[in-house]
Parts: sequence; C-alpha cells; structure tokens
Amino acid sequence: MPSNIIEASWSSLEHVSQATRDYLNKPHQLLINGAWVAGLQGDTLDTCDPATGEKLASVAIGHENEVDLAVNAAATAFVGPWSALTHFERATLLSRLARLIEDHADTFTELEILDNGMPRFIAELTIKNIVEMFNYYAGAAQRIEGTTTNPPHHITAEAEALTYTIKEPVGVAGLIVPWNVPISTAVLKLAPALAAGCTVVIKPSEETPLSILLLGELTIQAGFPPGVVNIINGYGYDAGHRLAEHPLVDKISFTGSTATGRKVIAAAMGNLKKVSLELGGKSPVVIMPDADLSLVVPGIAMATFFLQGQNCMAGTRIFIHDSLHDECIQQLVAFTENLPLGHGLSPATFFGPLISKAHRDKVYSYIQKGIEEGATLVTGGQIPEGRGNFLAPTIFTDCSPEMTIVKEEIFGPVMTVQRFSTTDLDAVAAMANNTEYGLSGSVWTQNLATAHRLVARIRAGQVSINCHGAIATNIPFGGYGQSGWGREFGQEGLDAYLETKAVTARL
Ligand code: NDP
Repeated sequence: MPSNIIEASWSSLEHVSQATRDYLNKPHQLLINGAWVAGLQGDTLDTCDPATGEKLASVAIGHENEVDLAVNAAATAFVGPWSALTHFERATLLSRLARLIEDHADTFTELEILDNGMPRFIAELTIKNIVEMFNYYAGAAQRIEGTTTNPPHHITAEAEALTYTIKEPVGVAGLIVPWNVPISTAVLKLAPALAAGCTVVIKPSEETPLSILLLGELTIQAGFPPGVVNIINGYGYDAGHRLAEHPLVDKISFTGSTATGRKVIAAAMGNLKKVSLELGGKSPVVIMPDADLSLVVPGIAMATFFLQGQNCMAGTRIFIHDSLHDECIQQLVAFTENLPLGHGLSPATFFGPLISKAHRDKVYSYIQKGIEEGATLVTGGQIPEGRGNFLAPTIFTDCSPEMTIVKEEIFGPVMTVQRFSTTDLDAVAAMANNTEYGLSGSVWTQNLATAHRLVARIRAGQVSINCHGAIATNIPFGGYGQSGWGREFGQEGLDAYLETKAVTARL
C-alpha cells in the first residue's frame, strides 16, 4: 500500500457527531407539497460511504408518478400564497434558511464527506459557500427590477406611449443535480430560483441525496410554503427524464454529463421549456516558459486532483513548455506522491475515494487505455489495497491530441501532459482549444501581456491566470461549446429564472 494512505481503515460512523448519527437514523423520504412521504411503490435505495463501503442510510426512491405529484404541487404553489410574497419577504425566507444551514453546518459537512467521499476541507468550503449563496440571492431578490423608456416613444405618428419592463419568475423549475458536489450544485440552482419567485422540484443524484434531503427539512423550518420546494430522489432515466419532459415544468436546470445533457434537451422539447446546462469539460492548463514553478507544481496538482478529479472544471490537459517540462514533471511527481489519501473525515486528507466502484472501474479502464495508446505513466495508475473506491492520482506524460485519455472527459484523477516548444500564442491557443468542451482553463506565466493575450484566445467560460478554476458566488460560471448553455452564479444565475415582460401604455 502506498505510504501516503492515512486513516483508510476508519469506520464512517465512529468519527461523526451524534447529530449526524441521529439524522442518518431518521427515515429519508420524498418531499412533496411540504410533507415527507414514502414513494408510492415503497422502493428504497441504500446509500454508502465510498471510503469504506459501509451503509449510511436507506432512502426512498420516486418514479414518474411521484414526479407528477411533486410537479403538480409546485405548479399549485406557484400561483398560491408564495406568489403574493414581496421580494423582501422572499429575501427574509432565504436569509432565514442561510442561518439554519449555519446552525447545522457540522452535520452538512459530515453528510457531504460520508455520502460523496470529499475531503473535509472541501466539504467545509462547500457549506460556507452555500450559506453565502442564500445570503447573496437574498440580497439579489431585493434588487429584481425592470427598466423604463424615458422619454416616452411613439407607437404611431401621433400617439405616444411609455414602456416599462418587469421581471417575473419563469414558473416551475426542475433542478437536476449530479453527485460530485451535491449540496453546492443543488443550492446554486435553488437559491436563485427561489429568489426569482419560482417553485421547484429537485432531483438529486441517487448516489448522494442525504445533504439535499436535510436542506429540504430546513426549507420547511424556514417557513417556505408547502409545494415551493419539492425533492424527488430517484433514477435519472426515470424520475429525471419525467421532470425534463413534464409539460407543467417551465424550466430545467441540469448539471451532469454532456451525453445526459443531450437527452435532457430532447425531453424538454415537448413544451419548449427553458433549459440551462452545466456539462462536462476537458480543460487546458498552459505552462509558458517563464512560469513560476513554485506556483505551477501545487497549482496543476490541485487543478487535476481536486475532488479526486471528479470536477467539471478539472484541468486535465496540461501543456508544458519544453524548457520547463522535465523539471516540472520531476517536482510534480514528488508532490503528487505525497498527497495524503484517506477518509475525508480526517482533517489531514487531501485526496478521498471515487464515488463508486463502478466509476473507479471506468476511470481505471481509461488508465489502461492510456498505457495501450502509448502515453508514459509516470505515477499512480494503481488501485490501493483495502476498502473503499480509492485510486492513486495518476500522471501521464508524452500524450498527444488523438489519445482517448486526452480527448474524453474521465472525471477522475488522471492528468495528461503534452510538451510544446513554440511561443507563438496563436499556436499555443490552438492546442488549448483542440477540444469539443469549453468550460475552464488556465495560463501560467509571469508576463502579464502574454497572460492576457492567451486568455483572449482561449475558448472557455472561465480562464484563470496563475491559478485554476476559482469559483465564487458572484462570478458567472458556465461553458462554451459542448460544456453547456447559460451561466450560473451571480446576476446571470438569477436571470436564468426570470422572464422579462414589456408593458406599453398609450399616453
Ligand atoms: P449524469 O449526467 O449521469 O447525471 C447527472 C444527473 O442527471 C443525475 O441526477 C442523474 O441521475 C440525472 N440523469 C441521468 N439520466 C437522465 C435523463 N435521461 N434525464 C434526466 N436526468 C438524468 O452525470 P453524473 O451524475 O455522473 O455527474 C458527472 C458528470 O457531470 C460529469 O460528466 C461532469 O462533467 C458533469 N458535471 C458538470 C458540471 C458543470 O458544472 N459543468 C458540474 C458537475 C458535474 P442518476 O444519478 O440517477 O443517473
């Protein structure tokens, strides 16, 4: 077993608070119209700790019928007392929810670690971030405003009119969430949707429902009227598909793979509902000859291996200039081999397990493919002995653009390194842009002009200089190309749940 494995033999439940244990022992049902209910068929699914395989809880599973009930509740709530609340009253509810999350921060943190396998430092950041998101959108809800034409305009040669615009909630929103950062992805949809005045049905990934179900409980305590927030845990092909196609759903916000995103678009076509998509990525990281290696080495390890690489922004195509390549790889391998692997509950852990055995097998098969196609495996590539879905962080050098590991999103801890010798920025950008995706990217150089010229040439929704993949509540995030449609976070995240109505009054 590699020497950097720590605490892998922990038992999940020995190291969590009594409050978390109590929560895990409660029934976990579906939230429909303000009440917790079992699914109509009584189906449940066990959710397990990916670091140990231990069962955490049984969770009710909903199918198409339960989605229909939840959508009907949301549609009724949309025109009920919720619609009469002022922006300020909605903001008060959002702030109250933020405070309740703070009160339960330790349990949220432990649930994210247990259900998803994320290291503690990421879970803690995530919970701070969701509190911030509810507070941010509480503020934004109070500033939802239209515009006015001033002075009046002519509607005929003689008649004048005044036009103003108002912003209205888009309606019932279906929020489909993946497993990789479950609570955070749910909240970056839920907070703006509620701020806008929408009602919602959330479909978590059935792999990681626990924190989202706790959030549902807190929405009731905060005082959101019944039917405003509904949660149907269930399978994507069944509950997710029904939500995407449902005629009473006005908007779908989906985060997940590009392949599933295409299915969501097809399902949403029936009633031409609005669709936002946050999809996959294969983000470039470009190391120019004058880059500062003391920043680059930890920076690119973080870019690829953060959250075990199960991260849509992951920088997985690394381009290193010839003049730095060998020194950089030597330092990077040493750095990577010292990253502490272990149970996310241990504060020392940087690198946890992958979400499931099936997903680890898929990532491992990509590693085999990389070896077969001629890339050089310089570290990692092996499955550590023992429990849990661990996989050592893996680096391939001598990669080329046609290799499968360079082209496809692996969603795991696999870095591919390509070497380059040019300093022509168009040529460098062409390498970086050689992908169907366009979610994130970064450039590493000490020359500001080089940095900004390269940033301007890279086709991605987020490009960073001397860092990678920074996320903040007020900074829009989303993809070019096949990485998605629309933006989340910030004002654009709120606009995605609003319609604009123009009102013209003849004077
Ligand atoms: P999937 O695309 O498999 O699933 C995402 C969600 O969609 C899950 O809740 C899933 O349910 C559901 N789903 C599956 N099939 C359908 C369907 N036919 N109709 C409606 N919903 C469906 O992604 P993963 O959960 O495996 O997450 C990993 C992927 O997500 C990666 O490819 C990654 O790039 C992408 N991602 C993108 C992000 C971004 O912001 N751009 C952020 C995070 C992840 P179920 O779990 O039951 O299958």
